[in-house]
Amino acid sequence: MRELKTTTVAYGNGIFAIDQQMVRAFLVVGNGKALLIDTGAIQTDIQSIIAGITDKPVTVVLTHSDGDHTGNLQAFSEAFIHANDLENVKTRPEYKDVALNEMKAGDVFDLGGRRLKTLFIPGHTPGSIALLDEENKQIFPGDTVSYGPVYMFGKGRNINDYLDTLNYLRGFRDAGAFNSVYCAHGECPLDPSIIDTQIELTRGIMSGAITGEETPMRGDTVVRLAKLGKTGILY
Ligand SMILES: [Zn+2]
Repeated sequence: MRELKTTTVAYGNGIFAIDQQMVRAFLVVGNGKALLIDTGAIQTDIQSIIAGITDKPVTVVLTHSDGDHTGNLQAFSEAFIHANDLENVKTRPEYKDVALNEMKAGDVFDLGGRRLKTLFIPGHTPGSIALLDEENKQIFPGDTVSYGPVYMFGKGRNINDYLDTLNYLRGFRDAGAFNSVYCAHGECPLDPSIIDTQIELTRGIMSGAITGEETPMRGDTVVRLAKLGKTGILY
């Protein structure tokens, strides 16, 4: 397997990525606190990496429970996650000492001079959340808004909910709530017009108008990869 390095990327305005090539976690630094959004995929000394960026106290939130977003969670004493994804993390023995707090839509993380609000965005997983910074017009949607390909096969995925979520996020975008998307995979940041393409792709898959190509995955699983522009969905 290719060795994946962990690097730190500064996006400016207090936003940093802990980048592991296949996935990135974000550290958002306010005047009083910092928010770590996801904990990476590959084992690394994440506390040292954070210490190289900020000495402010760090709160950990998970956009969802997929393993490439919860790696290194054992380096922290507590984290926030939506109730619908809680069990998935709680049952992993390596995280037994991490106190998991439930977060819900509307919860606000106030970092001092910077507030991120929780949006409930199920579909990719039942408990996916996004964090919205309306003042800075930035959103952190995990995998949900990204070129992906977004995984929509297997346990817990729900394409109907996913389409509802994309429409919900489009509403926020159209109301001017955000103009840049800090996603966990692929090109970043993204222009929020990507949501229109994702909606078209999701609708196309659901109606059968778009058929993906068969793609072998781990084990015997065969899934289809559908693409529209740069966006992709595995289903
Ligand atoms: Zn995921």
